Amino acid sequence: MLAGKTALVTGSTSGIGLAVARALARAGAKVMLNGSRPAADAEALRAELAVEAGVEVAYTTANLADPASARALVAATIAAFGSVDILINNAGIQHVAAVDAFPDDTWDQLMAINVSAVFHTTKAALPSMKAKGWGRIVNIASAHGVVASPFKAPYTASKHAVVGFSKAVALEVAEQGITCNALCPGYVRTPLIEKQVVDQAKVHNMPEDRVIREVILAAQPTKQFVEADEVAAFAVFLCSDAAKAVTGSVQLIDGGWTAR
Ligand code: NAD
Repeated sequence: MLAGKTALVTGSTSGIGLAVARALARAGAKVMLNGSRPAADAEALRAELAVEAGVEVAYTTANLADPASARALVAATIAAFGSVDILINNAGIQHVAAVDAFPDDTWDQLMAINVSAVFHTTKAALPSMKAKGWGRIVNIASAHGVVASPFKAPYTASKHAVVGFSKAVALEVAEQGITCNALCPGYVRTPLIEKQVVDQAKVHNMPEDRVIREVILAAQPTKQFVEADEVAAFAVFLCSDAAKAVTGSVQLIDGGWTAR
């Protein structure tokens, strides 16, 4: 479905980003993986994906908290593949704490990775997409882009920002064959959530199994985690030609969470 396309997936060495990268590769796209660790650490993963999918897969180290590094990641993708047709802004961090106890430097870091990096990669990638008259931007926001939870004010603010940014970009490029959407998962069991279980256990003073049942999945009517592969399949659809009219949208994959 995506043969001949090139894709950059930020934060793609684990969790949702890895699932999306794998699904795009299986759909035929050349994929640039990204993480903050050195290339040698990701080499086994890169080689595995390339062999499994039979496409070119590369890896670039970038610290997305640094604007220059975010822009260099897009430049590295264009240098490797000639273009960046698909941009998946996935990298993100979470920190759970009451607002009045939230560390200032963690707020700065969270906004830099969750929001500013999305701006910098999008800005850097759009000229390549405009030149081809085809592009797909999928911003992995969250159900927290639409609703809020206590002890997650900075994360909620960051994901609402990503939703708004996605809509505005979509409007700007609507006549140029480029779509931009926010994909909003509910709870997906990934390393990010494992850390949150530990943090929430501290905040609520509860054992971790009770936190999963009574705090985390309390919000999700299906009482099941969303699977990373399900988010990935949705992202691949948004990158397809069949989804060319889907733009500026907020797509929820949240087990019914936001229907309440
Ligand atoms: P994860 O921790 O497994 O993956 C996050 C990725 O971001 C990792 O690959 C990590 O290396 C990368 N990353 C973090 N900081 C970085 C930096 N400074 N530079 C480069 N890369 C960096 O988490 P995940 O759950 O797969 O989350 C992926 C995205 O999905 C995030 O934006 C998150 O907010 C969003 N999300 C997750 C859930 C969930 O329940 N897991 C729900 C909704 C939205």
